[in-house]
Amino acid sequence: MNYLSTRSETAAADLATALRRGLAPDGGLYVPESIPRLDPASLPGAPGLPATAVQLLAPYFSGSTLAADLADICTEALELPLPLIDFEPGHSWILELFHGPTAAFKDFAARFLAACMGRLRAEHEPIQTVIVATSGDTGGAVAAAFHRRPGFRVVILYPEGRVSARQAHQLGAFGDNVHAFRVQGNFDDCQRLAKQALNHPPLNRTLHLTSANSISIGRLLPQISYYAHASLQLWRELSRPVDVIVPTGNLGNALACILAREMGLPIGEVVLATNANRTLPDYFSGLDYRGRPGLATLANAMDVGDPSNFERLAWFYRDRDLRDADVRAVSVDDGTIRRTIRRTDAAQGMALCPHTACAIEVLHQRRESGITTPHLIAATAHPAKFNEVVEPLLGRTIEPPPALAELLNRPSHAEPLAANFASLGQALHKMAAG
Ligand SMILES: *Cc1c(COP(=O)(O)O)cnc(C)c1O
Repeated sequence: MNYLSTRSETAAADLATALRRGLAPDGGLYVPESIPRLDPASLPGAPGLPATAVQLLAPYFSGSTLAADLADICTEALELPLPLIDFEPGHSWILELFHGPTAAFKDFAARFLAACMGRLRAEHEPIQTVIVATSGDTGGAVAAAFHRRPGFRVVILYPEGRVSARQAHQLGAFGDNVHAFRVQGNFDDCQRLAKQALNHPPLNRTLHLTSANSISIGRLLPQISYYAHASLQLWRELSRPVDVIVPTGNLGNALACILAREMGLPIGEVVLATNANRTLPDYFSGLDYRGRPGLATLANAMDVGDPSNFERLAWFYRDRDLRDADVRAVSVDDGTIRRTIRRTDAAQGMALCPHTACAIEVLHQRRESGITTPHLIAATAHPAKFNEVVEPLLGRTIEPPPALAELLNRPSHAEPLAANFASLGQALHKMAAG
């Protein structure tokens, strides 16, 4: 399988190159040249996520130096608990994607990418610097995945004051080969800085930069596997496809769900649940695409005004009208997020993180409007990661899962950084020299 840039179809790369570069040389995002199709009936019956992932991802790895390692990579990275919880019995299910080391869904993809990159590294190679802009959860997941991995260091850029206290603590708590910077700006600033660094040849020569953001194809691919796994499980039970609601910010997770459907998996509508950042809902309601500054909301990991992966989504639909693609997008404001968290706890005794609450509200709206189809809801983070929002609403404390509790007990440190490229360059050189 070759990988093309969204901006020029001629710049083909193999998987290893696409993974190492992160971003294509022309500034575009890597996309597989075609989407493999498979027959869901040919996939094994509920054998666990790694086994499903191997079958599903094999075509994307074909011809790559990593092809022989795919099974090991999937076992190393994707063997995490993946509960499918009844929400409306027989009608909707919650897929809990937050049982990895940093309690958010990004652990799956970050661990997969790290497992690939670790295997691509040659013995004598200089240290590679994984640069990652984060709206809160990516940085932790990438840090956990590369922490103490020989041959790598991690640079995290996060918007100061825009992530939860626990997220901030977690980002600074790794130490060793992980360097956290608190940027005086918003997530879009962090993302712009990371992209500028990746596209800056002198910095690259000294730091051997690579990306681990959801712009990396190595993040996108593994996320297809849990949608495949869950939709197949429900399809065997229901004999029909499920609609899927995905809390959405930078559009990485939801794009993987759309790709799973394109591959032939039994998925109906894909519904993007956003917070007050309306870029995608506006677009899918018929307006022109208009990226804009990100607004701060309670669901901060989705505070994205110009989602990077939109460029990929548009590329996959370059010959079709994206607005006919059975993709919907609904915006949920902070007041409604609060109400949904309270209501779901009162009705079901279930604590939701603010991101997952957006998806549950969208389910609620769809039921109110008479849609009766079965639904799968992606639950993207553990509520204890957002205790400042959730606990006051529920009037009780929520215990962090053990891995998160362990990180919260460590000391934490992050360097301040002005949101401009000159400051980033200086900070990186200082880090590399120290
Ligand atoms: C990153 C994140 C999202 C948004 O996912 P995208 O792939 O950026 O759309 C939603 N919820 C949580 C908890 C996240 O960490």
